[in-house]
Amino acid sequence: MRFPKKTASRNEKESLFYITQKEVEDCYQCMKCSSGCPFIAQMDYKPHQMMLLTKLGLFDQVLQSESLWVCASCMTCSSRCPRDIEPAKIIEGFRAIVLREKDHSKVQPIHKTGMPRQALIASMRKFRR
Ligand code: SF4
Ligand code: SF4
Repeated sequence: MRFPKKTASRNEKESLFYITQKEVEDCYQCMKCSSGCPFIAQMDYKPHQMMLLTKLGLFDQVLQSESLWVCASCMTCSSRCPRDIEPAKIIEGFRAIVLREKDHSKVQPIHKTGMPRQALIASMRKFRR
């Protein structure tokens, strides 16, 4: 595990919440999300670890992780979470933050429809660098 550079500011936490309308505070690390993830073998941080990093405000580690782009938005983790945290939405929220920082400013918040913009995010992954 890499050492964190800094913890997220209040603005950064509010931005993530604005995009996802989800809180990770209730995550109790049961790992049900990770145990159902079909891409777990390719991830540097497992879904439950990404939720823990998010909860601790260690956004940089999530934003720099390979897992962020390995995740296929299959929603399995969200369907398994007993706390309705929806890790898939949180992960997609981080991807939206990265894409916005790279001036893909037309990525809209996902809470208006209630569903992640999977196709949009997936199609933009290839242009992330
Ligand atoms: S399934 Fe939900 S509560 Fe359990 S570790 Fe994953 S995000 Fe946290
Ligand atoms: S949405 Fe992403 S993290 Fe969640 S189970 Fe699917 S591939 Fe894994």
